[in-house]
Formats: sequence, C-alpha cells, structure tokens
Amino acid sequence: MRFDTVIQNGTIVTAADTCAADVGIVGDKVAAIGSRLPVDGASKLIDAAGHYVIPGGIDVHTHLDMPFGGTTSADDFESGTIAAAFGGTTTLIDFAIQYKGQTLRTAFDSWMSKASGKAVIDYAFHCIITDLPDARLEEMSALVREGVSTFKLFMAYPGVFMLDDATIFKAMSQAAKFGGMICMHSENGGAIDVIVQRALAEGKKAPKYHALTRPTTAEAEATSRAIALAEMAGAPVYIVHLSCNDALEKVREARDRGLPVFAETCPQYLYLSLENMDAPGFEAAKYVFTPPLREKWHQEKLWQGLAQDALQVVSTDHCPFCFKEQKEMGKDDFTKIPNGGPGIEHRLSLVYSGGVHAGRFSPNRFVQLVSTAPAKLFGLYPRKGTIAVGSDADLVVFNPKREEIISASTHHMKVDYSMFEGIKVTGVPDLVLSRGNVVIENNKFVGRPGAGSFLRRGLFTGL
Ligand SMILES: [Zn+2]
Repeated sequence: MRFDTVIQNGTIVTAADTCAADVGIVGDKVAAIGSRLPVDGASKLIDAAGHYVIPGGIDVHTHLDMPFGGTTSADDFESGTIAAAFGGTTTLIDFAIQYKGQTLRTAFDSWMSKASGKAVIDYAFHCIITDLPDARLEEMSALVREGVSTFKLFMAYPGVFMLDDATIFKAMSQAAKFGGMICMHSENGGAIDVIVQRALAEGKKAPKYHALTRPTTAEAEATSRAIALAEMAGAPVYIVHLSCNDALEKVREARDRGLPVFAETCPQYLYLSLENMDAPGFEAAKYVFTPPLREKWHQEKLWQGLAQDALQVVSTDHCPFCFKEQKEMGKDDFTKIPNGGPGIEHRLSLVYSGGVHAGRFSPNRFVQLVSTAPAKLFGLYPRKGTIAVGSDADLVVFNPKREEIISASTHHMKVDYSMFEGIKVTGVPDLVLSRGNVVIENNKFVGRPGAGSFLRRGLFTGL
C-alpha cells in the first residue's frame, strides 16, 4: 500500500485506546494504522516520536462573525478557524441565528455565506431559534435534512432570545419526533432581569455587577426546568456552558435517573473565578460573559464532573470582543458590555494541562471530552472524533511535555487581550492536519482559507 503521508513513531491516543503505531493517510482519509507502515512513495513523513497522535479537536460552541449588542464578534470564519487550528481544533460547530420573523432557512443561508471561502477547517451549524410560531415547527425537520440537526434555545435574555416554556416544550417535542436535539442556554432570564434593574437603580454599574446579578440559583433553576421539559417531551437535551455546581447537581441527578441529559462546560469556568471580576478599573469587562464567573470552589466540582462523566464535553463559547472600543461600549453601564470571551485557541492545552497533566483524568478521557463525545453527540462520528480507517485525517501531533504561557502577545485570535493571560499550560499541539493536509507546522499556519467544508451532520445517536 502507498500513502500520501505517514505519521511515524507516535503514540495514538483515542477515547478508547492507547497504542504505539503509525498512521497512513491517503487523500483526506486515514487509510491504515499499523506498526512500521511502508513509506515508499509517500510525499510527507511526520516524525511523532515522543508525541501523542490524537483526533482533531471538535469545538461545538463558537460564535464567529456574530452580531451582538450593536457590534460584531472580533473573529470571522478566517481568523477564528486559523486560531482554532493553532490550538488543535479541526472542526467547529457555530450558531446560525434566526431573528424574529425570519425563517430558519434564512438563518442557515446567511451563516453559510459568512463561512464559505473563509474557513480553514471543517465547520457545521446549530440553529438558534428565537421565534417559533406553530407554523414554523415544520422548518425544524427541513433543516435537519440539510445537516443542521441541533437547535439552541434560550431561557435568558427576555425580549431578545428568550422563549417561553410552552414554545420550548413544543420545540423539544418536535425534535424528539425526528431525532434532532435541543441545546439549552439555561438561566432564568426573567428573574435575572429584575435583579439587574434593581442593581442599576442602586447605581451599581461596574462590570463585576454583571456577575453579581446572575446567581447560580438562576442557572440551576433553568437547568432543572430544561430537564423537566425534555423529560415530558421525551427528548434528549444538551445544556450549554454549564458554569456552577448547583446546575451540575441537576444534570447529575437526571443522568442518575437514566435520562438522556448531556452538558458541556468551558475552560473559563475551570480556570477563572469571581476573583477576576475584582480587577482594577474597567479590566473586569474582559470577563463579562454569560453565565458569569463563579466563586472559585466551583472549579474543582466541574473538574470532578468532567472526570466522572456528569459533564461530557468541553467547548469554548468563543465569542471575542476587543477590550478597546468593543468592551468599552459598556464603560458606564455593565449591561452594555458585549457578552463573550475569546477561547477557541487554547481549549485542548487548558483541558490537557488541568486534566491530564494535573492528574485528574487519563489522556483517553481528554480525547473523549474534546473530540469523541462532541462527534458522537452532534452526528459527526465516526467521520470525525476518532482515529480509524476511513475516518477523516483530522489529526493532531500533540506534545504532552511542551510548556507554553498563554498571552495575547502570541495568540492568533483577532482580539486585544487574553482571558488566560499568564497561565502556563503543559501540553501543546505541535502539528495539525485537516483532512490530510498539514495546516499548522513549526508554529506557522500553512493551510488555506476556504479549504474547510460544511459538514452535513447526522442525527443524535447517543454516546
Ligand atoms: Zn454561546
């Protein structure tokens, strides 16, 4: 057999196995896994001695080129996917937003045009539904046939994104009918808005009040309600960006009862805390995202959740806004600070470092959390999310020993600060392939804008 590329001498790590073997690539697929694969005629040999060879990361929660509060997230599909690739992520699922009065199809079409010609890695979409009269329920199944098989609904942001329980219940019932899945932003938006208005009336307008007006109880209540609605509808539900132990307990309890309830957390909730909101001046605006940062003790609970499978996925909720001019829109009023933080580039390193290097879980669990579970839950497996004959050759040669200090001065996201500035990680991608082509090598991007393809996702089939 003749290969285009052979990755030699590495240790392959999947969610299930660890083995010393070469990977042979033909075209954009993995063609063989074995010891001492023949290299005659191969145009590229990659020496992975001392490295892990892992399936490319899958980030199921990003917001590239997204309008929010009068501005637009700072990374588009070119800069955002390049930054993702530097961090070992080779697939992302972004959100196409349906605005009130629009068809779901309009949302899909407009996000497809944002990505096409720009993305350097493969991408797919969830659809955010903000307006769902009964007549529109049918559109959900049409979109699933197009490969947009998951829908995000909001229990927060009244008047903008929030849906009432009846609408959420109908959407879940509809999803249950044809195998789609609902992703839920779980916070009690009604109660939070009252607390926010009270704070503003008392003159509490600094960034840290963004966090202090969104209690963990509001997240736990909505998580519990989302689970109950899904149970009544007979539908699976996926809780996005879970940030606190209160909500985690609701998910764990539901899973213990055998319900198809899944949840993700994000690196910011594992590494940052309410203490970051005490940064001097307006600095704390860098950490204004939703749900907000919590007291530090929640971090260890979330790590335990990841180790014990109460949490199944780590995504980033990458939604970058520059500190200058964008975050500054809320200088005098925290409610005007665009919500979101940059994270697409450092997910694998942060999870590996805090998870595997710190001794909390195995390299296999790491791969499960950042690649395999996302692929299985979101209809991309086994094309993505593992290393197997016939799978896409989305591969990361990962250096488990290399150290790096995260900094805005060296990152590739188009944003003027880092949430993780100064944090030292151990474990960094050295080389990244997207569908058989090297995209990151020697710390340089060597891929091509437009090389990424839209992925028509299949149905949710469980984990
Ligand atoms: Zn988000």
